[in-house]
Amino acid sequence: MSDCLFCKIITGEIPSNKIYEDDQCYAFYDIQPQAPVHFLVIPKQHIVSAEELTEENAAVVAHIFAVIAKLAKQLNLLQGYRIVNNVGEDGGQTVKHLHFHVLGGRSLAWPPG
Ligand code: 5GP
Ligand code: ZN
Repeated sequence: MSDCLFCKIITGEIPSNKIYEDDQCYAFYDIQPQAPVHFLVIPKQHIVSAEELTEENAAVVAHIFAVIAKLAKQLNLLQGYRIVNNVGEDGGQTVKHLHFHVLGGRSLAWPPG
């Protein structure tokens, strides 16, 4: 989508600190990290949010979780980490392109505020 921030990050039109990329997804560090390690993994296909997932397009989510497991090991998140997906206004979603936050490198509080 031409006016989507994360689609522009995927194409390189907006620069990012890339960690990993393949044919289905793109991983990069969050610009405002909330933990010592905070990166985002997004599908290359423009999907607005988890609310838009269907049997037809949801396979990329399984792929993204497998990529997260690999990257977390590479980044030494050996004590654990959190995967977060914000959905819509009440969920705190600010960018309307499906993304999974991965936060680690410190102990994280639960439940979130
Ligand atoms: P949300 O609040 O939608 O779940 O998360 C959006 C995330 O994208 C936020 O954590 C925010 O810091 C991050 N973000 C927003 N704009 C940019 C940007 O231009 N580059 C990077 N790397 N992250 C961004
Ligand atoms: Zn997009």
